[in-house]
Amino acid sequence: MSKVFKTATVSALESTPDELEKVNVFALEKQNADDLYLFKVAVCSNAQNTDRDNEPLMLSALEDLAQRLRGKTVIFDHTPTAKNQVARIYDTSLEKNGELTEAGEELTRLVVHCYMVKTASNADLIAEIRAGIKKEVSVGFATSKITCSVCGSDAGRCAHRPGQTYSGKVCRRQIRNCTDAYEVSFVAVPCQTDAGTVKSFDSGDADAEKELEARIKIKEIIFKEEKAI
Ligand SMILES: [Zn+2]
Repeated sequence: MSKVFKTATVSALESTPDELEKVNVFALEKQNADDLYLFKVAVCSNAQNTDRDNEPLMLSALEDLAQRLRGKTVIFDHTPTAKNQVARIYDTSLEKNGELTEAGEELTRLVVHCYMVKTASNADLIAEIRAGIKKEVSVGFATSKITCSVCGSDAGRCAHRPGQTYSGKVCRRQIRNCTDAYEVSFVAVPCQTDAGTVKSFDSGDADAEKELEARIKIKEIIFKEEKAI
């Protein structure tokens, strides 16, 4: 399975009382605005035609992901050691802009709000984020429901091939749900993250014989910080 590259946007967030209150839901001790660096990342959207492997997310999957990513950590290189847990997602939001996707849904992007405690050890990272140095961010999640956009069958159970056009309609494998969300990871060395799709667990239903494979999909996202205006 190929990687998916999207342009994600990282931007700084102001430590307003509202944001701080949400951070403090997750913090063990009450945090002060001065001690924190807040930023947000536009992680992914339900746009259908920008996904290079023709496996776009549907709105239902984005909604699942928005719920499941709350409270998750932001790490480096998908290595979940304590040292690598640099930030935590304290809020998620779904932003719409009024456009419709090819699938007829409102175009929606998933934005995660993250906080970091300013320390000597992450000063470099904060500086890099602020400087807009290009990095990659990826998000890993599992899904148990992927369907064909042409006929609606479960992916792999029809003759339609992703990327091919049938009666003017491009076949896509639409990700319908998100059964688990892992971390969001800064990726320092992109070539080491080509985890692609990892097969795993989840029977999906009692039909063990045709057990659906839940899949962990790693979305690779290139981001750069929005220039402050
Ligand atoms: Zn089909």
